[in-house]
Amino acid sequence: MLHFPASFLFGTATAATQIEGGCTTSDWYAFAREPGHVRNGDTPVVACDGWNRWREDFSLQRSLGLGAYRMSLEWARIEPRPGEIDHGALDRYREMVGTLRDWSIEPMVTLHHFTLPLWLAREGGVLCPEFPERLARFARVAAGALSDLCRLWITTNEPNVLAAQGYLLGVWPPALRSPSAAIRACYALLEGHVAAYRALKETRIHEVSVGIAHHLRAATAARPRSVADRLATQTITRLFNEAFAIAQCDGTMFGPLDAAFRSRSGFRVAEARGTQDFFGMNYYTRDVVRFSMAHARELFVARTVPDGAERSDLGWEIYPAGLGDLLRSWGRRTGLPVIVTENGVADASDAKRARFIVHHLAEVARAIADGVSVQGYFYWSLLDNFEWAEGYEPRFGLVAMDYATQGRSMRESARAYARIAQERALPD
Ligand code: BGC
Repeated sequence: MLHFPASFLFGTATAATQIEGGCTTSDWYAFAREPGHVRNGDTPVVACDGWNRWREDFSLQRSLGLGAYRMSLEWARIEPRPGEIDHGALDRYREMVGTLRDWSIEPMVTLHHFTLPLWLAREGGVLCPEFPERLARFARVAAGALSDLCRLWITTNEPNVLAAQGYLLGVWPPALRSPSAAIRACYALLEGHVAAYRALKETRIHEVSVGIAHHLRAATAARPRSVADRLATQTITRLFNEAFAIAQCDGTMFGPLDAAFRSRSGFRVAEARGTQDFFGMNYYTRDVVRFSMAHARELFVARTVPDGAERSDLGWEIYPAGLGDLLRSWGRRTGLPVIVTENGVADASDAKRARFIVHHLAEVARAIADGVSVQGYFYWSLLDNFEWAEGYEPRFGLVAMDYATQGRSMRESARAYARIAQERALPD
C-alpha cells in the first residue's frame, strides 16, 4: 500500500470568476462580452452562481470528507473602484472562510487568479506601474479581513500562463500579442508577488504561509536525437515552465535580461529569492516538444501528444509520471514543503477521472516515500466551471453542473477520491 501522512491535506480548488457569477467590474467580464473571445460566446456572468450558492457547494465538499479547499477572492468585487472597498463583499468572503474553518476544512486563499478590476485593467493591468503596489494594498485588505481564519495563501496563480495567454498569444485579456509586453508582464507579476508576499507576512499577529501556484508541465523532446527538439525543449522549460520558480530560488528570472529591467519602485529581481514558504504546483500534462519554424511566436516550440497517449477532453495528454518527477525535482531544489495546488482533468463522461486521480495521487505518495515533503493535493475542480476562453464545455468537476437549472450532481469519481482521502492509502 501507498500511504499519506495524517497531516496530508486532500482538497479541491476553485477560482472566483470561474464559479461565482454576478461580478460586472472585472476585466474578464468585459472581455468575455466581446464576440469571438470565448467559445460559444459564453460569459462568466452567472457561472455556477457560487456567490449565492457557496454554502450548498461547501456542503457537497463536506459530504465528501475532503479536508481542504482552495478558493480565490475576486479583487474586482472587493475593490470595484480604486481605493473603494466593498465591505459587504469582504464580509461574505469572511463568512465563507469562517464556515470552512467551522467545518474543519482548511482554507487556502488566492489573491490573484488571472482576473483584475476593470479600472486597473484600463490603467494597463499588470503593466500599470502601480500594479505591484495595488496588489500589495489588496493583500493587506484581504489579510486584515481573513488572516485570523486562513493560514495558507497564494499571491498569484500561474503568472507564466497569464503572461503567455494575455500578453504573448493574445487569447486572454488584455489580448496583446507582444513578446516584449509578455516579458514585462512576467517582471511585473514577479514584483507584484513579492510586494503581496511582504504585505501578507507583515500581518505578524497571525502566522501565515504564502506561496505562488506555479504552473509546471513535464516536457520531453519528440525526437530525442534531434538537437533542435532538445533545444526547443530546454527553451520552453527554462523560459516558460521554470522562470518564476527559479526567480524565487536563485533571484534571477531571465538571466541577462534581468539587469535591463527597471521598475518604478526600483525593485530588483534578486529580491524575489526566498519569497515563498511552500512550493505550490499546478500540474496537468506533458508537452512532447518539436522544433517548428511555424511556431515562431511560441519560441519555435510545437507542443504535441504522442500517438496513442490517453487524453483529456481538451486533448491534453494524461501523464501522471510527470507529476512525480516535478515533485521530486522541485522538492529537492527548493527544500520547501510542496503542495499540489491544482491537478485535474476535463472529462465530461467521468470515464477517466477516477483513474486520473488514483494515478496522480500514487505519484504523490511515491514522492513522499522518497522523502519529498508533499503536504497536500487539491483536485481541480470541485465543480464544473467557466474554463476561460474555452467557456463552459470542458468539465473538470467532481460535481457535474447543469447550467440551465443550476443543478449539481456528484460524479462517481468524487466518491473514489473521497474513499482515498478517508483511507489515506492507495494500493501500490
Ligand atoms: C488554472 C485554472 C484552470 C485550470 C484548467 C489552471 O491553469 O489555474 O483556472 O481552470 O488550469 O485549465
